[in-house]
Amino acid sequence: MMEKILLKTEAADIEAYIKAGGYQALRKALAMKSEDVTAEVKKSNLRGRGGAGFPTGLKWSFIPKANTKPRYLVCNADESEPGTFKDRELILKNPHLLIEGLAIASYAIGAKQCYIYIRGEFAKETGLLSDCVNEASKRGYLGNNILSSGFDLNIAVHRGAGAYICGEETALLESIEGKRGLPRLKPPFPAVVGLFGCPTVINNVETLASVPAIIEKGGDWYSKLGAGKSAGTKLFSVSGPVKKPGVYEIELGMPFKKFLEDYAGGMLEGSKLKAVIPGGSSVPVLTAAEALKMNLDYESVQQAGSMLGSGGIIILDDKACMVETLLVLAKFYHHESCGQCTPCREGGGWIEKLLRKLEAGKGKEGDIALIYSIAENMLARTLCPLGDALAMPVMSFITKFRPEFEAHAAGNGCGKREAGSGKSTQ
Ligand code: SF4
Repeated sequence: MMEKILLKTEAADIEAYIKAGGYQALRKALAMKSEDVTAEVKKSNLRGRGGAGFPTGLKWSFIPKANTKPRYLVCNADESEPGTFKDRELILKNPHLLIEGLAIASYAIGAKQCYIYIRGEFAKETGLLSDCVNEASKRGYLGNNILSSGFDLNIAVHRGAGAYICGEETALLESIEGKRGLPRLKPPFPAVVGLFGCPTVINNVETLASVPAIIEKGGDWYSKLGAGKSAGTKLFSVSGPVKKPGVYEIELGMPFKKFLEDYAGGMLEGSKLKAVIPGGSSVPVLTAAEALKMNLDYESVQQAGSMLGSGGIIILDDKACMVETLLVLAKFYHHESCGQCTPCREGGGWIEKLLRKLEAGKGKEGDIALIYSIAENMLARTLCPLGDALAMPVMSFITKFRPEFEAHAAGNGCGKREAGSGKSTQ
């Protein structure tokens, strides 16, 4: 049977959460040595659910033991990647699971102060989390001497101001410090020099919400869920022309075809699967044939030629214009560039301009090669991954759907616009 952990119970109310067994994992963790809590998370093979998939327990163990400065845990709730909306759902349905995970992780790394950095647009979620933190404090799950263990923890909910780049972990730290959200040069990594110059662990919402079940049932139990190195369950948000768009929790390793049919309800009547962006809009696009052969786990999606990323699955059907879709993405990443690196700042604008011409039927053949080469020169040449987040879609869209780009360059377009006029025919 498919195991559910993150959306097993839906209890925004603390009484209901406690009744369903909530905060027992925290009690158990506080009776353990902090290093044993980290060891259990290492054993579980839990990997970061924000996009990079880095082993969580290993990340926690990077905090230097001899460093006597304060330590911080930061929860990255700045979910802004187009196509990704699973953390928002988790916060709304199970906020105390996240808070319990934060308390356990803070105990494991020795942090007495934790920040939840939440996306500026999430006003309702910010209010809910603030209320839940207050409720948990009143009942002794946060604050001083938690459950008589001697461990103290304060959680602050910090609302961002709406910049996508603040989801990058070092820009996020700058933002909490009251500065403009500009990514930092790494190394030093945040585990050594993080928030206010102190050792800091930054984890995604879903990652931290997975921790209570690992402590409750053990790392061995969790490591057996899913598929090999892709252990556990994961939330996938699915959008596009499917019958049941939404957020679903599955064990990693499920065939994409099964997910599309059984969970997303299949394609809408009259729609045929054309392409899939499997991990949020910044990862390479897959053709329908490539996607239908892959499983939903880190290794399988990589083998198919893309990345599992945040688990934000964007479905494109036969009516989607790939030039127009890429233009929408280029506009977004160009707009959100912080401007520190030339390839990202200039390349993004240049790509957007050329795509705009192509999409309006005013481009020429050479534009396609030029767009591709600009993207190639952005890849792996920037301070943070935002440059790659545009370069990878550009290169994969052009490689896999070149005839559509050529038709636009020849002025034939895709039928959505009158060639050469820039006017929509729909
Ligand atoms: Fe800023 Fe783009 Fe450079 Fe990232 S890659 S630091 S967003 S300019």
